[in-house]
Amino acid sequence: MADFEMQGVSRRRFLQWSRGVMAAMGAFPLLSRQSEAATAAAGNVAAGGAKHAAPDYYAKLNVKKIINAKGTYTNLTAACMPAPVREAVYQAAFHPVHLGDLQVNAGKYIAEKLKCENALVSCGASSALTLGTAAAVQLANGCTPLDIPQEIGSAKFPKNEAIVQKAHRYGYDHAMYLCGVKIVEVETLDDYRRAFGPKTVMTNFFNAAGRGEIQHEQWLEVAHQNNIPCHIDCAADMPPIENLWKYTQMGFDMVCFSGGKGIRGPQNAGLLLGKDKLIQLAHANNSPGDGVGRGMKVAKEQIVGMVAAVDWILSQTDEGMDKEFRQKEDVIWRALKDVPTIKATTNVEPVANHVPELVMTFDPKVVGITATDIQAKLRELPVAIELASARSGAGPFRGRGGVQRPQPSGPPMDTISVSTWMMQPGEEYIVARELRKLMMPVKAGHAKAKA
Ligand SMILES: *Cc1c(COP(=O)(O)O)cnc(C)c1O
Repeated sequence: MADFEMQGVSRRRFLQWSRGVMAAMGAFPLLSRQSEAATAAAGNVAAGGAKHAAPDYYAKLNVKKIINAKGTYTNLTAACMPAPVREAVYQAAFHPVHLGDLQVNAGKYIAEKLKCENALVSCGASSALTLGTAAAVQLANGCTPLDIPQEIGSAKFPKNEAIVQKAHRYGYDHAMYLCGVKIVEVETLDDYRRAFGPKTVMTNFFNAAGRGEIQHEQWLEVAHQNNIPCHIDCAADMPPIENLWKYTQMGFDMVCFSGGKGIRGPQNAGLLLGKDKLIQLAHANNSPGDGVGRGMKVAKEQIVGMVAAVDWILSQTDEGMDKEFRQKEDVIWRALKDVPTIKATTNVEPVANHVPELVMTFDPKVVGITATDIQAKLRELPVAIELASARSGAGPFRGRGGVQRPQPSGPPMDTISVSTWMMQPGEEYIVARELRKLMMPVKAGHAKAKA
């Protein structure tokens, strides 16, 4: 309801409108009261009744809104900011400040909260990795931000190697290449020890890789024997909340997080946490200086929003969040548990996206619809629903982390899964209702007649 009041829509008008919408949608009665509020929350600005609200630019631009039952995916615009974060962004928009003061003080504030020496608000985890690489390159070569990348690897500034385990190579390697570094790949501990040389500037560790022979402690020990700073990419690795200080306290010199994933800050914000000397150099390479970070500007609204998101996440508990996600999944499961042949399990990935995911298997022949058809139909709704996964036909279930799990024996089953952590309050009732409509079209009608 708070959303609504902020849009300047009266409660009475909202209720009138939402009743109309629900009547038109033929609500499933057991879910109708809750999903009424949620339908309104999901589509509020588009409502005909919302005359005093700001124009709905998504509607103007003909871009469909989504109910995110999937997770913190960048192409789904990751998270939505909680109310206190939105409010902080809104307030920041009213006043100019000195950008440098804001950058430095926001970093110090975050560092104190997250128990590290210093911090920087970047425009995402990827840019945090770039700025961290620039810091390491500058530290090793004694160059200036203006020398990166074009002079790196030259006779003047020859140090240009970053050491990475083969299993930790990923798309974000590009964030390091931007600084003129080359990647030296290692597999065994012996490879790793031998890889350090006169050109080494840093190492990178991909926390969620879940593979690679060398574990955190050993990785740090060897690098630090060689006086080389270590960066770890933890972009999507909160919850648990303590991960926000776990890796700096373990000894990593630089740690990046995405601001717009689990922390639920602005999508174009991120954190670089770590040793004061390196963070200061990262600041020196950041916008508005003419360094490699010039195109990675973070506006005052997003810097303040990132700080507010850190405050917000620290006001939460892992238990509280887990309970909320599971309660929402329960709402969905209660609406579906009498679908013939359906079975549910809960999957929790070990590192990144470490939240419950409700995985449901069913026999499409008995239910009368396949998983991929369900997915397609949900995408056609006026406010589209994005499932975590939908797989038709036999074959092992693949979790978000790519983990293979065997199919239960018996007839070929289809799988759909939902993850509730990125849903707005009440949207679980809409997802429950829409899934039930598709999977129990006849039964739902009977239930209505009886009720
Ligand atoms: C999402 C992600 C990033 C990029 O995060 P942005 O905040 O979008 O820049 C980097 N590394 C990993 C492992 C990620 O999951």
